[in-house]
Amino acid sequence: MYAIGERPGIGSYRDEAGHTITLNRPADALPPCPRCTPWRITTWTRVP
Ligand SMILES: [Zn+2]
Repeated sequence: MYAIGERPGIGSYRDEAGHTITLNRPADALPPCPRCTPWRITTWTRVP
């Protein structure tokens, strides 16, 4: 699992709520989930 601010590389990631995001550039950092409430601590898991 990855935390907000980590840069795990290009790929798709899913949070605990099932929302997915895609990082398109190697230098992109994982954001807070834009679809979860702002106070939720998002952790991301890489989608195969
Ligand atoms: Zn979410």
